[in-house]
Amino acid sequence: MSGTHSDALISRQVRRLETLLEERGIVAGAALDEALDAFLSGSSPLNGARVVARAWTDPEFKRRLLSDGTAAVAELGYAAGGVQPQRLRVVENTAHTHNVIVCTLCSCYPVRLLGPSPSWYKSEAYRSRVVREPRAVLAEFGLTLPSGTEITVWDSSAETRYMVLPRRPPGTEHLTEADLIPLITRNALIGTGAV
Ligand code: FE
Repeated sequence: MSGTHSDALISRQVRRLETLLEERGIVAGAALDEALDAFLSGSSPLNGARVVARAWTDPEFKRRLLSDGTAAVAELGYAAGGVQPQRLRVVENTAHTHNVIVCTLCSCYPVRLLGPSPSWYKSEAYRSRVVREPRAVLAEFGLTLPSGTEITVWDSSAETRYMVLPRRPPGTEHLTEADLIPLITRNALIGTGAV
């Protein structure tokens, strides 16, 4: 059986299971859509890490990534999934600014690049508090930022998803793109962790 056929078969079986679970009220459609999307599209934080490692080692790619995230990640084969077209905006951390992402309304998240979202991302506590007191929330994640660092919180929507471009750590100048990938964590791509 070819890969395409077996993928189609798995998709059909998963969708049938999805219908049954929804009919019986076991799971909400939106949550299941996200998990299903992640499962079917090979979503992983490794994808986001690859994008960041490329940006750290290729200034022209970085420039394109920051000006049009959607098009730049498509160059690496990461097309935005989902039924609705989604725009990806990549926000860069600098010496003086730190970015963190949230969806205050629900749980929008760049699943393809970051893998399935962690439960805390979807929690009421994170969604409400990170906007009001980002510095305190980040400290709880073990990320203590200098008082002079400006924190920007990006609120996702159905149309726009965000990913953070973390700073390349000092002392990694000798590392190759491939060597850099394992340093980049999912939380660093959300903005709740350091590299
Ligand atoms: Fe949302």
